[in-house]
Amino acid sequence: MESFDVIIVGAGLSGIGAAVHLHLHCPGKTFAVLESRDAIGGTWDLFRYPGVRSDSDMHTLGYNFKPWKNPNAIADGRTIRAYVREAAEEYGIAPHIRFKHLVRRLSWSSADALWTVEADHEERAVSFTARHVILCAGYYRYSAGYTPEFAGLSRFKGTLIHPQFWPEDLDYAGKRVIVIGSGATAVTLVPAIAEKAAHVIMLQRSPTYMVSLPAADPIANWLRKHLPIGLAYRLTRWKNVVLQLIFFNAIRSFPEQTRKRLLKLIREQLGPEYDLAHFTPRYNPWDERLCVVPDNDLFTAIKVGKVSIVTDHIDAFTEAGLKLRTGRELEADIIITATGLELQFAGGAEVSVDGRPIETGKTVLYKGIMFSGVPNLASVFGYTNASWTLRADLLVEYFCRLINFMDARAYVEARPKEPDPTMPVKPLGNLKSGYFKRAEERLPREGMKGPWRNHQNYAFDIFRFRFGAIDDGVLEFRRACDSRVAEISPALLAEARPD
Ligand SMILES: Cc1cc2nc3c(=O)[nH]c(=O)nc-3n(C[C@H](O)[C@H](O)[C@H](O)COP(=O)(O)OP(=O)(O)OC[C@H]3O[C@@H](n4cnc5c(N)ncnc54)[C@H](O)[C@@H]3O)c2cc1C
Repeated sequence: MESFDVIIVGAGLSGIGAAVHLHLHCPGKTFAVLESRDAIGGTWDLFRYPGVRSDSDMHTLGYNFKPWKNPNAIADGRTIRAYVREAAEEYGIAPHIRFKHLVRRLSWSSADALWTVEADHEERAVSFTARHVILCAGYYRYSAGYTPEFAGLSRFKGTLIHPQFWPEDLDYAGKRVIVIGSGATAVTLVPAIAEKAAHVIMLQRSPTYMVSLPAADPIANWLRKHLPIGLAYRLTRWKNVVLQLIFFNAIRSFPEQTRKRLLKLIREQLGPEYDLAHFTPRYNPWDERLCVVPDNDLFTAIKVGKVSIVTDHIDAFTEAGLKLRTGRELEADIIITATGLELQFAGGAEVSVDGRPIETGKTVLYKGIMFSGVPNLASVFGYTNASWTLRADLLVEYFCRLINFMDARAYVEARPKEPDPTMPVKPLGNLKSGYFKRAEERLPREGMKGPWRNHQNYAFDIFRFRFGAIDDGVLEFRRACDSRVAEISPALLAEARPD
């Protein structure tokens, strides 16, 4: 059985980022990245539908250690994939990646202070041990997307596709296409397909808030032209962080005014006759993720008649397309179910501590990274109101600090204790999106105070993760020789420090 100091699960944006941080902040630590697929990039390698792109600007979705140099701030999947691969090459991460290793089980042994990581590799079971595990397995199931149970699905004679599994050779030129959904995927896919398709219908059960942004950021491009690349990147990053925070807080504080403003902007694009009911959700802005429409592409496609939006419920699939609840029938050659993702934690792996299975829904997240009662395990989950990587970078930097802190004191175990049972908790996240709701039972809980609170604020988190005390009385530490979790006195601590 091979042994490492750290095992990272997943070679997506977060996993490669985690490996680089480990390489930079914990030099000398041995590590392996176990990746179930045979490629780097995760989301940005898996999703291949036309137009696939980020919703966020790449100055904040990019790593803090690697400037984004492309003139487009909102980037396509291929460019993001290349960026992640480049990071892996630049920092020598690629040789540490074990492809086609699907992690099935993580078992902690307190006696050995080690994780045993079991994986499937080319129809063989393989095992590794590691002192620490960093889960960078994303948040959704790779093997299947979410498709609601539609009546008569098998009757449809045309082509049915889920965007998670886009057939490379799909010819949609001149075809009638229906895209079911109104989330980020549908909003991306619809204008991209409309370029070649005869007509595209975006069929939504309920509308989503949308806002148009320029794909290129002129300030970022100006800064990059006139300043050293690293400085230009940092300035743009901070500009965007501050703007996003202001924007998010203003939206949450003034939902009615925001709703009116967003609708006014769409009205300006689509003209006075257009029925804005298709863009007026029942919820408040940012209760669900706001969809970005780069350079008004969706609105332009609607204006030129290539796209129409239908707001209705599906009654059943028919041979020719769909029958809606209102009785209307839609015909299509291709139907795309952009109906979302299936939420999943730890890449679907079972986690146990000394033989006791851990149910994520029964744990409380400590500082948004570790699970109550579970030692030496980090889980990387980005922001829901800002770019994923802003938080992923900070979480892993914090975990590297924790590893170094433990090494300096000869600790082998760091375990967040169970929180006060009277503290109110709620499922993780502040979004009411369908995929969060569907997985509510399995979501780790977050508390209302202290390290149990999961802040969605990058500026606050910088202080918390980079400068906050590691030994905060909630993390319990143990040395190899301790038979139980030790309460370390300050005097003992000072004695244990190498200096
Ligand atoms: C279409 C789409 C667009 C998005 N756009 C944005 C955006 O604009 N801004 C934003 O902030 N976020 C966006 N997101 C969220 C996005 O997933 C994150 O930004 C980011 O890519 C997550 O990276 P990750 O490495 O944590 O997870 P992933 O990209 O999901 O990578 C996880 C990796 O772990 C591997 N893995 C999973 N389970 C196992 C296992 N059991 N064993 C071994 N390996 C495993 C997977 O194969 C994969 O390579 C988007 C998501 C999607 C689906």
